[in-house]
Amino acid sequence: MSFNEEIDKAFSSAYHSERGGNAGWQDVMSSYGVQPLTEQEREALLNTEMKITRGAFPIELRRVYEAIINKYPQDQTAGFNMDAKVLEYYQKIKPFSGLTDIFQNAATGTAKYSQGLQSAKHKTMTCKNCGAPRLEEMQYDDCLFCGSKLFEVKEN
Ligand SMILES: [Zn+2]
Repeated sequence: MSFNEEIDKAFSSAYHSERGGNAGWQDVMSSYGVQPLTEQEREALLNTEMKITRGAFPIELRRVYEAIINKYPQDQTAGFNMDAKVLEYYQKIKPFSGLTDIFQNAATGTAKYSQGLQSAKHKTMTCKNCGAPRLEEMQYDDCLFCGSKLFEVKEN
């Protein structure tokens, strides 16, 4: 299999799994030695405004992509834009905009969460790549949803 074929296969497997992943996707992750999200992380993500209608969570696909990249020489993987690829996947599994209201009405937990934030006048940090809010009750530096860096490391 070529690099691109392997990437496509991982994409397809994530995309065709049930919302939040299924047994087949778990197998793909373990075949690459990739750490799946914890139950706590999964639960937290299902309650954010980052709705998905199908497929594994983008961050898990990113972890598999990273494992694939590590298998190939750099000259074959250099053109691969991770953030863009993960975002492209998210665009395919998120609800159509017409359905957003339905999901928002259903997401009372999210509403409560946002109200709490407003009253506390917190500035929520959001991911530059996918727009996911950082969940303040959990500690992490990379976006829990897509895996992009939340804190930009400045390099000269
Ligand atoms: Zn993100």
